[in-house]
Amino acid sequence: MHIARIVKGMPTSDGAGVRLTRMIGTPQLDLIDPFLMLDRFDADDPDAYIAGFPDHPHRGFETVTLMLDGRLRHRDSTGAEGVIEPGGVQWMTAGRGIIHSEMPEQEEGRMRGFQLWVNLPAKQKMAPPGYQDITPPMIPVVEEEGRRVFVIAGRYGETEGPAATRTPIRILRAELAAGASMTFDPQPGHNAFVCVYEGDASGPDSLGREVTIPAPSLALLHGAGGLTLTAGAKGAAIYYGEGQPIAEPVARYGPFVMNTEQELIQAVRDFQSGNFGR
Ligand code: FE
Repeated sequence: MHIARIVKGMPTSDGAGVRLTRMIGTPQLDLIDPFLMLDRFDADDPDAYIAGFPDHPHRGFETVTLMLDGRLRHRDSTGAEGVIEPGGVQWMTAGRGIIHSEMPEQEEGRMRGFQLWVNLPAKQKMAPPGYQDITPPMIPVVEEEGRRVFVIAGRYGETEGPAATRTPIRILRAELAAGASMTFDPQPGHNAFVCVYEGDASGPDSLGREVTIPAPSLALLHGAGGLTLTAGAKGAAIYYGEGQPIAEPVARYGPFVMNTEQELIQAVRDFQSGNFGR
């Protein structure tokens, strides 16, 4: 396995003007099936995040929000409400439809984290909406030499993450000390990426040359076998995702991700007629 591409992501804004860097879901890197989008947010300036994401709909996929710094309050059309704390993860299944808001629970300080969009296969796109609120104590931490690995979904060695996934998915967060290594071993046929968000890490490209992934950037992994990354002098923090491709047509329009144009039109109609999110 090797590093196929490294992308820096694209600055964008979403919600009511939250500044983000889109790492997956750009003209540069459209999708890593089953991952439709990865947004990274990191701001000390409240102007970059304070407006949050007021009420908006989703249908046909899941959102996985990982907070690193700051707190995010969510409220939705099913009546659910909660706060994602630093180190916590919210795994939301939009399924047939949900309307929710995601707002900063702070007026100053750093807001940092990720939101990953995970596609659902056709037969699960209209599943009932639901949440998994995964608090920091629920996430096992594997402490190894020079490494701390937070197991969010799927397995790392014998340790299993708390998230229930609808298709085979593994999500890890790792902190490596300077010079420490970690081997990623996606299952055969899975797509995989690493996003280095602190420090830097190096590994082989397709010709076996060592290349460095500097924070913040995302590397798409290709090939068979494992990939070993080694942290640089400042260590590295890594967000890792792998998943079994769904391999179905993807039709997307903003917050709706379906298989066909007709299903998108239906999603817009259902939303506009208020037949949504209950
Ligand atoms: Fe949302």
